[in-house]
Amino acid sequence: MTEAVEDAEAGAPAAAGPDDAAAGGPTDADWAAAVAAVRDLRADARVLLICHVNPDGDALGSMLGFALGLRRLGVRQLQATFPGPAGVPEPFRWLPGVELLVSQDDAYPDPDLVICFDAASESRLGDLADRLATAGTALVLDHHASNTGFGTVNLVDPHAAATSVVALGLLDRLGVTVDAPTATGLYVALTTDTGSFRFEATTPAVHEMAARLLATGIRPGDISRQVFDTRPFGAVRLFGEVLGRATLEPAAAAGHGLVWTYATHDDLARHDQPAYVLEALIDSVRCTAEADVSCVVKQSGEAEWAVSLRSKGAVDVSRVAVGLGGGGHRFAAGFTGRGPIDAVVAGIRAALPTAVLIPRA
Ligand code: 5GP
Ligand code: MN
Repeated sequence: MTEAVEDAEAGAPAAAGPDDAAAGGPTDADWAAAVAAVRDLRADARVLLICHVNPDGDALGSMLGFALGLRRLGVRQLQATFPGPAGVPEPFRWLPGVELLVSQDDAYPDPDLVICFDAASESRLGDLADRLATAGTALVLDHHASNTGFGTVNLVDPHAAATSVVALGLLDRLGVTVDAPTATGLYVALTTDTGSFRFEATTPAVHEMAARLLATGIRPGDISRQVFDTRPFGAVRLFGEVLGRATLEPAAAAGHGLVWTYATHDDLARHDQPAYVLEALIDSVRCTAEADVSCVVKQSGEAEWAVSLRSKGAVDVSRVAVGLGGGGHRFAAGFTGRGPIDAVVAGIRAALPTAVLIPRA
């Protein structure tokens, strides 16, 4: 779908301070508790997997890959879901394990175990957040430094390039042999969050994990084409139009520059496209050489906008997003904006100078 979706550039040094509970990653006790939560399940236990709203490749890939691993462990009553409309974005509809997906309305109301993927806070679980209270145990797998530790057991590793790194760590400790269907989801997650192995997150360990997954026989060319390099002609035309009205503001962000554009429901309707096609748009906008910060404002309601922010390194966009009610990583963040587009962009413009990491020479 996109190379810089939800958590892309996550590996950009985590914005973790000494007070972040997650800063050091999971402890041995955390891993042991997570293993026990799965191992001690009764044979008839109901397990519900949840990933974040507007799921991307890491959310869906780590969740479905892990789901298939649980299947191999003998978990029979198993559902996967995410908040909001039930439709899976086209780039991920072929993923092994999609048959386990149910709509949020059909998800077990009181599962024995709930496992959350790639969600930094309860708010990212939408209406499904109530399962954290109704479930026997809530296990959280994530890699956002800002993770609030909202589970009973939290496996949060801000140094992990993707949530699938954590998912594989748990599958290994559970003694699950990773087969090709499981590897497919985990690989999609890893390629999504490393921007196809281009971002700083791409450590030797990332390549070692990729090698291990590829050794199961999965086909990286086919996977990349389906996830990143395929979109309907209508979306190509829509991108042309939306990119055509991008605005460059060289003086913004204390001279580091801002490039931004927007897309409305009307734009989508004119080109007969679903909203998720816009997730890939930020990748084209952020190519702009003259701007460190890029932004796409996507209509999500009457006067409501899902805002994506990216930085090339001079600005901490998570600071901007958090200040405006959202969150994310240092160089990839987002928030929900309200009011007219110009007011949303004005809010960003005003916040940028306070988030500059490197003064412009
Ligand atoms: P994207 O721009 O791809 O939607 O998201 C980039 C990053 O920002 C992700 O790490 C995601 O978790 C975070 N993010 C995006 N939108 C929101 C939001 O509305 N709230 C919070 N807390 N984080 C967001
Ligand atoms: Mn992620």
